[in-house]
Amino acid sequence: MVKICCIGAGYVGGPTMAMIAYKCSDVQVVVVDIAAARINAWNSDRLPIFEPGLDDVVKACRGKNLSFSTDVEAHVADSDIIFVSVNTPTKTRGLGAGKAADLTYWESAARMIADVSKSDKIVVEKSTVPVKTAEAIEKILTHNSKGINFQILSNPEFLAEGTAMDDLANPDRVLIGGRETPEGQRAIAALKAVYARWVPEDRILTMNLWSAELSKLAANAILAQRISSINAMSALCEATGADVSEVAYAVGKDSRIGSRFLNASVGFGGSCFQKDILSLVYICECHGLPEVAHYWKQVVQINDYQKTRFVNRVVSSMFNTVSGKKVAILGFAFKKDTGDTRETPAIDVCRGLLGDKAQLSIYDPQVTEDQIRRDLATGKFDWDHPQHLVPSSPTACKQVSVVWDAYSATAGAHGICIMTEWEEFKNLDYKKIYDGMEKPAFIFDGRNVVNVEELRKIGFIVYSVGKPLDP
Ligand code: NAD
Repeated sequence: MVKICCIGAGYVGGPTMAMIAYKCSDVQVVVVDIAAARINAWNSDRLPIFEPGLDDVVKACRGKNLSFSTDVEAHVADSDIIFVSVNTPTKTRGLGAGKAADLTYWESAARMIADVSKSDKIVVEKSTVPVKTAEAIEKILTHNSKGINFQILSNPEFLAEGTAMDDLANPDRVLIGGRETPEGQRAIAALKAVYARWVPEDRILTMNLWSAELSKLAANAILAQRISSINAMSALCEATGADVSEVAYAVGKDSRIGSRFLNASVGFGGSCFQKDILSLVYICECHGLPEVAHYWKQVVQINDYQKTRFVNRVVSSMFNTVSGKKVAILGFAFKKDTGDTRETPAIDVCRGLLGDKAQLSIYDPQVTEDQIRRDLATGKFDWDHPQHLVPSSPTACKQVSVVWDAYSATAGAHGICIMTEWEEFKNLDYKKIYDGMEKPAFIFDGRNVVNVEELRKIGFIVYSVGKPLDP
């Protein structure tokens, strides 16, 4: 029986390993983490992450061929294939701060693997890492162990939060990169055999290590670039009277372009896009390619601009000040169907409004009050000036209330900002909401989910990103 261990029980490690266990009943899968609270949650009825379909898959395998443990070293020592799915955030200090990926967690996992391994292992990069990371990991593993053969594979993950289980069950492709040596090719074949249980052969792409590592960064950069491209167009639409949805529809009909990832919004969020583009920027700079670095940096800068533009629109529409005014924030997660708030645009928008002394009433169906307060209290990192951690206002917590439904959030508010495209925000009783608000009542739709015409008929003044402004 193949024994698999995954280091890191997060948004990637948990769901991907649950899917492998679910699809391969003869493979033993253990997910390990140093965070005891996270492991306890994986072993409970309340999983640590919200993801549609995840509960059923975990319940079907847990206690059979899937387990979660804090006994990291013992399970690593006992496994044939070790996935490493630890976090690789942006470095916040030292060389490359504000751009480079922080590989501290990866390095400590690699040193531990070298330390405890007594038999040959396949070590799989599941985390998103800079191109050439495998070379560094090989050095750490071989210099810290005796006579053990480690084969490093790159197998980046392409799941999107909110649709992770569907993405894992029906991936567009699975990438496996490895060394071109006979041992490297054998390792590729072993991992391919795991995925081949449910992924069609023509969707499992094998390639050299560096191509696989770089493909993940390239895919995220190009996806984010599409969003920044349509968001840049949205600003021009607002200035000219064009409608960004019509423009996106017309552009997306071109089969060379396609329609996906062309929705204008307040900006992209999530733990990956920004950090992976910044990592790419840093790699380009390190390879003496400042023009290429500059090109990708613009994708992040347009995203920041879009968030600032949104805040400015809210404040300028509400007679140039939101001081003392109640503003309802509907949605805080970075997208629907997840409780993840990492890099959510809601944080920047709330900070901007708090800076103008608004009173915020925040509601998200999946994000806890603790999480929201933590996110707003943490200083904002300025990646162009990494030495400056812009602190959030010490009075900010007094300006924020977190409530448990959209109607309480909006009662008595002057304005509403829709920050996440949760389905329920499309179907609220907006007449009831309007009646309970101060007048004039404003809606700023950062996700273009509401029916602008209907809301205008009710009496709202509506702003939707990239749409013609209220007459
Ligand atoms: P996460 O922060 O949710 O999980 C990482 C886990 O690793 C944490 O629970 C942490 O405690 C654990 N960990 C760190 N060091 C450890 C160690 N030495 N031993 C044991 N456990 C350790 O992160 P995530 O969202 O799952 O992302 C993991 C990686 O996958 C990142 O590189 C990310 O860029 C990449 N990725 C994320 C997504 C996504 O949608 N979240 C998608 C594709 C790829």
